[in-house]
Amino acid sequence: MNTQHIIGALEAVQASILANESQIESLDRAIGDGDHFINVRRGCDVLMAMRDELVPLAPAVAFGKIGMKLLSTIGGASGPLISSFFIAMGKTLNGVAEPDRRQFAAAFVAGVEAIKSRGKADLGEKTMLDVLIPVSRVLVRLTESGADLATLTAKVREEAVGGMLATKDMVATKGRAHFLGERAIGHIDPGAKTCQVAISAVCDLVIAAA
Ligand code: ADP
Ligand code: MG
Repeated sequence: MNTQHIIGALEAVQASILANESQIESLDRAIGDGDHFINVRRGCDVLMAMRDELVPLAPAVAFGKIGMKLLSTIGGASGPLISSFFIAMGKTLNGVAEPDRRQFAAAFVAGVEAIKSRGKADLGEKTMLDVLIPVSRVLVRLTESGADLATLTAKVREEAVGGMLATKDMVATKGRAHFLGERAIGHIDPGAKTCQVAISAVCDLVIAAA
């Protein structure tokens, strides 16, 4: 993986988030305060604007810059959480010129761990972590077992969709949705939806480029 791949992934993520605007918007209107789509879109826009700045950087440095930029632009609860993901990815890949699959998987795990500790949340709390934790686990498992790219991306995509859908029946114990108690049941978590959409877009890109 090189920085050009990261930029390509950011472009794919932005396109997929925009394509899912109405669903992401309405989910945060249902169980949050309605700003999640706007927050994420602002983050995407600002990353698109810094593409040229990212090009010459090593992946670790690019991830660090992405994280810092998002910290100052996204806002909401999700801003610091998503930022911490990229900052931790950057730290983990420090000194690695072209991360391989295992190194990428390890960095992804570190990113998810950073979100867990920043948000003091874990699996089953109706948040983005219900997508990210299962995805990180399957990513590590299949990378270690040497699965081919088609299997890897198919399983990652499947875990992301499963995790996203599972949030529907959960009561939230973190974030704004927890104020709703049982009334949040029946609605998918917006952050989980955003992560699922982003992960699926990256999987599509990886397969198309293979
Ligand atoms: P805000 O809640 O401040 O309006 P957003 O609407 O941008 O921020 O983001 C809401 C999303 O953030 C939720 O759908 C959920 O996935 C995620 N989230 C909120 N709190 C936490 C937390 N403590 N840990 C992990 N994710 C969280
Ligand atoms: Mg919100």
